[in-house]
Amino acid sequence: MAEHNFDVVILGGGSGGYAAALRSAQLGLSVALIERDKLGGTCLHRGCIPTKALLHSAEVADVTREAASVGINATLQGVDMPAVNRYRDGIVDRLFKGLTGLVASKPITVVSGEGRLVGQKSISVNGDVYTGKNLVLATGSYSKTLPGLEIAGRVITSEQALQLDFVPSKVIVLGGGVIGVEFASIWKSFGTDVTIIEGLPTLVPNEDASVSKAMERAYRKRGINFKTGVRFQGVQQSATGVVVTLENGETFDGELLLVAVGRGPNTAGFGYEENGITIDRGYVITNDRLQTSVPGVYAAGDIVPGLQLAHRGFQQGIFIAEEIAGLKPATIDELGIPKVTYSEPEIASVGLTEAKAAEIHGQENISVYEYNLGGNGKSQILGTTGFVKLIRKNNGPVIGIHMIGSRVGEQIGEAQLIVNWEAFPEEVASLVHAHPTQNEALGEAHLALAGKPLHAHA
Ligand SMILES: Cc1cc2nc3c(=O)[nH]c(=O)nc-3n(C[C@H](O)[C@H](O)[C@H](O)COP(=O)(O)OP(=O)(O)OC[C@H]3O[C@@H](n4cnc5c(N)ncnc54)[C@H](O)[C@@H]3O)c2cc1C
Repeated sequence: MAEHNFDVVILGGGSGGYAAALRSAQLGLSVALIERDKLGGTCLHRGCIPTKALLHSAEVADVTREAASVGINATLQGVDMPAVNRYRDGIVDRLFKGLTGLVASKPITVVSGEGRLVGQKSISVNGDVYTGKNLVLATGSYSKTLPGLEIAGRVITSEQALQLDFVPSKVIVLGGGVIGVEFASIWKSFGTDVTIIEGLPTLVPNEDASVSKAMERAYRKRGINFKTGVRFQGVQQSATGVVVTLENGETFDGELLLVAVGRGPNTAGFGYEENGITIDRGYVITNDRLQTSVPGVYAAGDIVPGLQLAHRGFQQGIFIAEEIAGLKPATIDELGIPKVTYSEPEIASVGLTEAKAAEIHGQENISVYEYNLGGNGKSQILGTTGFVKLIRKNNGPVIGIHMIGSRVGEQIGEAQLIVNWEAFPEEVASLVHAHPTQNEALGEAHLALAGKPLHAHA
């Protein structure tokens, strides 16, 4: 058994772990990064990147189908799923090569294998022990299922959905959150008959209520079926398909059932609790400086309660490295983390929903403005509908921005600057937004909220 000592030992090479490793190395700390599978983790190999590649293929299918509406003669002859997968894998492979090259170019010791805490600051991998002055736990998450619902055969999660080499004819999607609506969007564009089952009263229930409503309208228009406020009871599989039964007795049949009911923290079996790390419902509990109950042991990414997003993991990894290096970084404001759902239409949001803003500040102390994309030239050109919704504190800053429409995810950059820099609508209104862009819709909404609408009634 060999012993190795580092300033920082990181368990898990996904978004949170590798960001901590890169920043630690930049700051001159010696680093070991332990990964049992592939650097890049869920986001690169089974999450963000492969799904967004499929969504792009899906968009091309839709554009081809609707080409005649813009005067282009084209026919969608079919979806060649193995070729779609090759395109997707090519992107993942290139990014993976880039990431491994980047990590290899830094003074980071990458250790392959599964790690387990064998002391408060020590991790054993394949019989060797890696001891850090500091540890970073970043072991990520897994696809959850419901009690009694076994993932097998035709009952799949996003991992198996990404491996399909055919377009299913009919799919039931259990869960109307981000992952569920993104797969529903992909499959519908590829020609699948899709039904979403969601237990809460709306699709994308974590978004502003008006966005959820608009999403339902858009999905209805696209012919994506959904049932909300209903609870799943069970599923029966046969050689050819699945039959899903709801608690109200309704049944739905399909070729596959995609279980997209959220992701659970991957923390069991790695010696966390045995070595004094406080765990609650599987999550690693940290303070706002991301330190666990053991001084010098930090946690990042999906194992920390909060939004399970890659960019949150990156930021937490950077924060922890800077904290360890004594730079005293500013804490991460969870409310300022931007969220994008990459379905068609896209959803992008940052800050408080109207309901939450009213609860915190009182409805009479906030103002809300919704700018309809109908007035936005570029959105008309793209043939998309939707809106930009702003929430401001009266005589105060913008505290929430919520957008829906094709490609609005690309607008989240400015939206998050506005909310996080606590800009007043009057300040944003004085900034020039290029014409004709969808970005103008953000500018127009701020003009309107500042009391000087240009292309809008207010
Ligand atoms: C289908 C899907 C789509 C998504 N789309 C988006 C998106 O568009 N945008 C977005 O921001 N987020 C998206 N996410 C979420 C994003 O992937 C996660 O938030 C992010 O990957 C979390 O990073 P992490 O470092 O916490 O964990 P992970 O990326 O899961 O990395 C954890 C790593 O730790 C390794 N590991 C675990 N245990 C051990 C051990 N004991 N020893 C050694 N190694 C270990 C794992 O192999 C893994 O590589 C998506 C997720 C899914 C499933």
